[in-house]
Amino acid sequence: MKNLILLLVGLFSFQAFAVDVTMEALVRSENDQPRKENVVLTNLVSEDSFDGEHFKIVKGKSEQAVKFSAEKHLTFRAATAYYHLMKARAYFVEKVKSDYVANIPKMTIRIEHTNQFSELGHFAHDNLEPQFNNALTIPAGKGFESRGVKPWDMEIWFRPSKKVHISELRVNGTAQQEFKVLLGQFRDQTRMQSLNRFLSNVIVAYTKEQQPGAPGPFSQEALIRTVGSTLIIEAGYLLMDPLTNVLARKWYWLDTALIPEIIYHEYAHAALSDHLVLSHSTAIIEGMADFFAGQIANSPKLADKIKKYNTYNGKNAKRKQEYMLQFEMQDYANTDFVFGMLWEMKKIVGDEQGLDFMYELRKKLTTNSGIRNELVEGILTTCDEKCAMPFSDKIRILKALNLKGL
Ligand SMILES: [Zn+2]
Repeated sequence: MKNLILLLVGLFSFQAFAVDVTMEALVRSENDQPRKENVVLTNLVSEDSFDGEHFKIVKGKSEQAVKFSAEKHLTFRAATAYYHLMKARAYFVEKVKSDYVANIPKMTIRIEHTNQFSELGHFAHDNLEPQFNNALTIPAGKGFESRGVKPWDMEIWFRPSKKVHISELRVNGTAQQEFKVLLGQFRDQTRMQSLNRFLSNVIVAYTKEQQPGAPGPFSQEALIRTVGSTLIIEAGYLLMDPLTNVLARKWYWLDTALIPEIIYHEYAHAALSDHLVLSHSTAIIEGMADFFAGQIANSPKLADKIKKYNTYNGKNAKRKQEYMLQFEMQDYANTDFVFGMLWEMKKIVGDEQGLDFMYELRKKLTTNSGIRNELVEGILTTCDEKCAMPFSDKIRILKALNLKGL
């Protein structure tokens, strides 16, 4: 009995063993500028590595947490990812009060990880098109015992950044078709629709700059239709490098483990994954993740940008602001539309009810949901359950959607 008590005491003291460590990480200042700052990393269960109750940060395929004594390049990214992941988790657990998120098993977070995801093998072969400049949330897997692949839980992967020179995109003098193919390849590499739109805007501006007066080979409209966008990540990217004149830059890259909005976006995928499975990427799923990333970032400046540029209600949005049926065919082209739509819906429903409303909405959606049918339907049924005044709120929602051609 005495031994048992000792054992229990031992267990409890182990449970209570949580270390807080102060480290340098990248955060945003009040006016959204990136800033190195000493932050407190809480709930660590190790005294010398990035191993916490909820997140373990590893490098590449390793299962060992990154040591605090590792090179600065690694510890800076590990600390930044850990800090913002804890912030995102706290948002879902404390503000949204999600039981699902509170019970997500400890996640392994891979930084500087280039392997593609394999449903059977966890990691695809090293030589299979290593990945850069993107981030990805992967579903748990059963493993493949006979091949020595252990089961794994849900994970988030951040790729290393890799500079891509504008000449690799070969904009000048190529046929539109060829350019589309090139951009498609680039998109596969980055998996960042937003970066593509950003790039395409820059490329257009750059091309015009190179050939003054001459019409660019591709109109802005055509490019945007080809490449699509995720506004929040675009905003993140633009904010990342405020000192460089973006139009003069000839090298492009995305260091995803250092961009708070991307970290929030990926964690939102995890938080929504009980209903929105991780194997697919659709406008609705991406728009939902963006919505929560925007909420977690809680930046008035970002909110302002969102209002200004989103395709749903933005004054400065370049694309048509009305819903069009062909949107449904091009998933990537309307992530912004969904994002803007949800942002607007929260305003109608009210800040108080809005969070609960949006999180509840995921239950009405699947990976096959379309905007015109299931999303609109889902918003209305969620309103029945969550709106303060369902009848009048639904009328306001319908009015707003109607104005957008839905
Ligand atoms: Zn995403």
